[in-house]
Amino acid sequence: MSIRNYPETPRIYVDMDGVVADFERAFLECNLTAKEYKLIPGSYEKLLPIPGAIEGIRELLELGFFVMMLTKIPSQNPYAASEKLIWIKKHLPELHDYVIITPDKGAVGTFSDHLIDDHPEWANAHNFPGMVIKFNGEPDEDHSHMHCQNWTEVVEHFKTHRNIIFEIYKAEKEYGC
Ligand SMILES: [Mg+2]
Repeated sequence: MSIRNYPETPRIYVDMDGVVADFERAFLECNLTAKEYKLIPGSYEKLLPIPGAIEGIRELLELGFFVMMLTKIPSQNPYAASEKLIWIKKHLPELHDYVIITPDKGAVGTFSDHLIDDHPEWANAHNFPGMVIKFNGEPDEDHSHMHCQNWTEVVEHFKTHRNIIFEIYKAEKEYGC
């Protein structure tokens, strides 16, 4: 058995539905509600990528970030877990071994990490210990989360702030702050 070494570099956790996989488009095209669609076996495997997501994640990897997918599955559809892994293998094979499936996104990450999520109010994502970036939709009324409308804005944010993010990560590692 080999030991896997994880890179010593800031992490960006990325939600799947509504951020990289177009869940909303799929249920609307089927004339179903989100609640109905998410219980159908096979539904998650068929989702189309959100425009710019695949290219955007690859740009984040090129910038030196460690990207992991962070996703929840519906409790009544356990097939969704396998389908999400199959989806990543098809569209982002380089991240196939970096998918975390959890009901509690607040239990993952550290102070210097980031989470990109379209619904920080779900799956305890608002308790993620690092910076939460709300993707798409409306900005929070109280501006509690940073907001990016699309993947162009996400990539721009990380390009602009790359150096300071790496400095904060280094300080956290060295001084635990
Ligand atoms: Mg989502």
